[in-house]
Amino acid sequence: MTSELQPSNDLLRPCDIRGLLHSHSRYADGAHSLRRMVETARELGLEYLGVSDHLKSVRHPEGLDAEGEAVQYEEISGLRREFSDFDFLHGVEVDAAHDGTVDLPLGVFEHLDYVIAALPEPEGHSKESYTDAALKAIHHPSVDVISRPVGSYMLTKPPVPLDMMRVLKAAAETGTVLEVDANPACSDLDGTHCRLAAELRVLLAINPNAHRAARLVDYRQGVEIARTMGLDCRQFVNTFTATQLRDRFKRDGKA
Ligand SMILES: [Zn+2]
Repeated sequence: MTSELQPSNDLLRPCDIRGLLHSHSRYADGAHSLRRMVETARELGLEYLGVSDHLKSVRHPEGLDAEGEAVQYEEISGLRREFSDFDFLHGVEVDAAHDGTVDLPLGVFEHLDYVIAALPEPEGHSKESYTDAALKAIHHPSVDVISRPVGSYMLTKPPVPLDMMRVLKAAAETGTVLEVDANPACSDLDGTHCRLAAELRVLLAINPNAHRAARLVDYRQGVEIARTMGLDCRQFVNTFTATQLRDRFKRDGKA
């Protein structure tokens, strides 16, 4: 199982990455089974994999409902027993509504390790209202990670109307992790925002958002970009052990 070594203070390196928090399986819109995903993650030398299939929503009608999520939990429990040298973090990705509301029934998903919230589409929003929606999702007591606010959205045309300083300050206040999407088809790191995040002590997660096993390796590209930007491994939760992340993600009265 995982050791408790502290990450170095050096620039982020691929070998500093212990695990990933954003991947999908056949339980929703992923191409491969949980077993295939974990076998690939182990081959890459990772210690753990976060599986974060979509919850059912308008955007993802194929997503998990409570019953499907319970079945997935059973399979993950079996794989945890089978792969004693590897750990799963069991998460979900939930779509925030237009106004940032996150509909996550309390008490239904209590065994989850973490929750990723995806921000709504920006259409119909002003910069202020879209930022308000983002902050509403960040402040949800069960949301641990916000997907892609610093990544692909910054490359969309026109740019998403997001006040990143307000987003970063809210993430710092609540302890919410912001994701940097490492999928080469989606994004690039925004160095300015990543450095601001470091100054504000906001934690980031380099994630492949892998819908196929072969895409898990994309995190290495994200690491290389982070390294060229001079980003320190201490600001990336991927350098934490699975145990450290579980402790961090425990529901603890978020603001
Ligand atoms: Zn996703």
